Amino acid sequence: MIQAKLQSFTVYESALMRTTSTLIDTPDAILLIDPTWLPEEIATIRRDIELRRNDRPLYVIFTHHHFDHIIGAYGFTDATTIASQAFVETDSSEQLNEIREFYEQHYINRPIQKPDIDLVIKPDQTLLLGSVPVTFISTPGHDATHMSILIESMNLLVCGDYGSNIEPPFIEHDPTAYLDTLQTLQSIIYEHEIQWFVPGHGDLCDNRSQMIKRLSAAEEYILALPEQRHWSPSWPDHAFFDRVHERNQKMVEQKETDRRSRRQDY
Ligand SMILES: [Zn+2]
Repeated sequence: MIQAKLQSFTVYESALMRTTSTLIDTPDAILLIDPTWLPEEIATIRRDIELRRNDRPLYVIFTHHHFDHIIGAYGFTDATTIASQAFVETDSSEQLNEIREFYEQHYINRPIQKPDIDLVIKPDQTLLLGSVPVTFISTPGHDATHMSILIESMNLLVCGDYGSNIEPPFIEHDPTAYLDTLQTLQSIIYEHEIQWFVPGHGDLCDNRSQMIKRLSAAEEYILALPEQRHWSPSWPDHAFFDRVHERNQKMVEQKETDRRSRRQDY
């Protein structure tokens, strides 16, 4: 379904985990970020693109390699694809297995593939897509392959799996990197006077102090780990998040142990 439709971009929301796909219209190119999840949802996005296309080139950007963000890649094999260097170099077989299991469970038969990437992005690189500069900000912490997308001319920040109002942080790469990323995103919001902030799951935010509030809530939560017994009331109550919280705690403890043992080696 469509969560938000503005003149220059549309945010699609999947029925699953409220995952967003962002379609951006520029005068001479169409950009699609993270097409997901279900076959009909992907077909709808594809149809909408063709209806408005007018021979413009199509770019598909993947924020990171998690399965819920690459699952729809099969629908856009003719597009010019964009992702980070780490995305290309990282083994994604676990992610593809997740898609396989999901499809088997739900009797879905669609191609399962990690997208081949045409434009491999170096950290914080800016590319001209059509006539619009698009900056890809390296944002590890949730995942090592992660980047967020800034379109300065539209005051638009598509941040991927950060800044959600419906789920707590999933620290699947590194807590310190996660905290740095939260700082980076906060600076970008101020520096580029972001008006539109699109998270990978949940609601678009058009209020700058709310954007900062979401990122600060994540920061406070992570800083309070691992002592924190429960994740923060900033996000809704959900049994699944208890498991996420436990995983986050283990991740923080593990990184702390690694850090200590490295220190002893010196
Ligand atoms: Zn993710």
